Amino acid sequence: MNTAFQINDPRAVIEADRAHVWHHLVQHAPYASQEIDPRIIVEGKGLKLWDITGKEHLDAVSGGVWTVNVGYGRERIANAVRDQILKMNFFGGSLGSIPGALFAERLIEKMPGLSRVFYANSGSEANEKGFKIVRQIAHKRHGGRKHKILYRDRDYHGTTIGCLSAGGQLERNAQYGPFAPGFVEVPHCLEYRKDELGLGHLSGAEFGRAAADLIEEVILREGPDTVGALCLEPVTAGGGVIPPPEGYWERVQEICRRHDVLLHIDEVVCGLGRTGTWFGYQQYGVQPDIVTMAKGVASGYAAISCCVTTDAVFEMFRDDSDDPLNYFRDISTFGGCTAGPAAALENMSIIEDENLLGNCDAMSERLLANLHKLAEKHPAIGDVRGKGLFCGAELVVDRETKEPLPEGLVGAITKDCMAQGVIVGATNRSVPGRNNTLTFSPALIATADEIDHITDSVDQAMTRVLSA
Ligand code: PMP
Repeated sequence: MNTAFQINDPRAVIEADRAHVWHHLVQHAPYASQEIDPRIIVEGKGLKLWDITGKEHLDAVSGGVWTVNVGYGRERIANAVRDQILKMNFFGGSLGSIPGALFAERLIEKMPGLSRVFYANSGSEANEKGFKIVRQIAHKRHGGRKHKILYRDRDYHGTTIGCLSAGGQLERNAQYGPFAPGFVEVPHCLEYRKDELGLGHLSGAEFGRAAADLIEEVILREGPDTVGALCLEPVTAGGGVIPPPEGYWERVQEICRRHDVLLHIDEVVCGLGRTGTWFGYQQYGVQPDIVTMAKGVASGYAAISCCVTTDAVFEMFRDDSDDPLNYFRDISTFGGCTAGPAAALENMSIIEDENLLGNCDAMSERLLANLHKLAEKHPAIGDVRGKGLFCGAELVVDRETKEPLPEGLVGAITKDCMAQGVIVGATNRSVPGRNNTLTFSPALIATADEIDHITDSVDQAMTRVLSA
């Protein structure tokens, strides 16, 4: 029997939501004034969703926030979670579980050079674990001095005050300060906006290496003996879908090694297949010290995140002295939920059994080709970029000046797509002088027809909105 909630009175659900749910990332005034209803999703299958009014949507953003990599309605995952939680749902603290052990082993097989998995629940939390590891190493090894954590302009690492302190997106941080000390910003690497970096004269690998060198300048300015780690997204997500330029990551790795700076790669979005390899960093041949992941780990079927480290990092915490502070004194209550690793094991098997990394590459080619075709037709598309099924189209008023398309127009385009039954994303609205990028991150099971349907809807929306 399907025991999912049945809807007898959709209106009552909508009104309960309007009265009591504080939704993420929106201003509620239009709900309160009855101008719009909160949209409630009731069912999903593959890339399709149905809302409470019965309207069908094609989801081009994997659950809104690049998460549902294997698509909706996966019985294999549901059954694995059901079986596991009936047997043993939870034990927190220092004890382990069968799915926890088995998923860690399989994950590490995909991550040569790394060896330890710390379980938590959200991307923010996994990143906080990484920051705490770096801080504790600074105390254990460097008298507390090598504690600074560098983060990049435009990158996002989460919603806690610690993660916002490492946040390079102005609109996420505004009004939430003061932030934690010891976090230092380094410049972004978006080639389309290289003028902002004073590197407008360079291109390709020359630009990539010079953009990485800007990080080294900050390390030298701060003092290498004070810098413990550099935390970066392999491909910046919410900051504008920014794949790194050629030559960038190799140079970043070189710089980190030169100054004994740990490389913490935030794979919360790229993790588990989004870019066509298991992890985004694997596209660029780098070897991180700390890797964090969340969204695609179990495709949203259960809440799970992981902070993964090398043996060298883990070994710094092995200590048989009597010091009562000698171990990593960290915990996450729901890191003890077995539903997470049970779902993650099945999610990983689906990616393998259905060759979703291969499909991701093939569909990425199609999506990027379609977006480039759209750019020939719509001068408002200033730049098309992406890696795997993680693509963006940056919208501008004028290709020469690159002035961002106003937020209202970007919103009108996504709204028009929504009315057509296609959900596309947009990043960094409301930051003057920053990009307005439509984002596309469909599930890795997307078909050619679905990709075409997504880009056709954007074509129609742009035609309607921009010629109005
Ligand atoms: N890192 C990145 C790159 C993200 O995009 C996000 C969430 N969008 C996070 C961390 C934070 O994840 P969570 O919302 O699960 O805390």
